[in-house]
Amino acid sequence: MTTSDKQPVPLYYVWKYTDVDRAFWGEHLEGWVPERIVDAHTHVTDPALRLEPKTEAKRRQYWVMEVNEPIDGATAARCAGIVFPERKVTCVAMGSPDLDYDIEAANEYVRTECLERDWHSLVMVRPQWSAERMAAELAKPGVIGVKPYYSLISASAESRDKHLEASIFDFLPHHILEVLDERRAWVTLHVPKAGRLGHPDNIREVKEIRRRYPHVVLVIAHLGRCYTEPHAREALPALADEAGVYFDNSAVLNPAVHRLALECLGPERILYGTDNPIFYMRGRRVWHGRQYVNHTSQDFFFNTDREAPEVEATYTLMMYEGLRAIRGACEALGLGREEVERLFYGNAERLIGSVLEAKASRD
Ligand SMILES: [Zn+2]
Repeated sequence: MTTSDKQPVPLYYVWKYTDVDRAFWGEHLEGWVPERIVDAHTHVTDPALRLEPKTEAKRRQYWVMEVNEPIDGATAARCAGIVFPERKVTCVAMGSPDLDYDIEAANEYVRTECLERDWHSLVMVRPQWSAERMAAELAKPGVIGVKPYYSLISASAESRDKHLEASIFDFLPHHILEVLDERRAWVTLHVPKAGRLGHPDNIREVKEIRRRYPHVVLVIAHLGRCYTEPHAREALPALADEAGVYFDNSAVLNPAVHRLALECLGPERILYGTDNPIFYMRGRRVWHGRQYVNHTSQDFFFNTDREAPEVEATYTLMMYEGLRAIRGACEALGLGREEVERLFYGNAERLIGSVLEAKASRD
């Protein structure tokens, strides 16, 4: 063991921070990632608020269901400090949008954890809520907006995706949007449909939200779930001219998608996000047309196509792979420091500021 070898540091669940990660940070990220970071898409959940155990069917339905274990606020903050050494990190945090949890208690948990850390929280909203209920939630200190999700329409023991083909307005109904518009609140929108953002209904409905609710701070999650280049090419150009539609780039690892997003939307409309804790997963992703495959060194049900041990030994955190992809795209397009800083914190800080200003003016 050389003097530079350090013990792996536990992150969360089965994931650790190792010398591979330290070296990756040093080689690819340390000199480039800005001093300040707003993680505009992160999940914080009190494990004690799970009401129903995860069924085996659900665990196997989709890789995220297998990897995603709740991370509490203190652990989330500790992990952010480890993966972003000497950076000032704040978060826009939300719970796990899953009716297997006590959603009301989970919202309150995220809110109080965020208040303690100068972070900001999004409320998981159910479409059954009244306008009055929505207004009361938005008035609470620390809350800047909502995280709607199609799985919050109704529970399912088998699948996260029972309502995948819903209309956006089925889980983000107009009476809720009216309140959000009036409060100038933030919406992190995970779009529905197997076809992802490029599905014509999604494009039409996003434009409708912009037209009818222009004061909503609309942030489309995961670049519209465009994890492959073909999906991105079908979707992002269609919203290039919608200047008021923002995107977070969380969970996107594909360099070509980051580049296309920067070309179509510009760095002023993209917010950095991790979608952690999921992307503390160690591994790499490969793409085949409209499909992607995650490879990891852990023994998961979905991990059927293991790579050689010497390849697995080189795996770093998937969030680091995402950061390297963002860096590559920014450099390929010749973005300057100011533009990179906007993407990592400037855009998010400005939008959070606009929500807080509107909120303060009501007091
Ligand atoms: Zn997420």
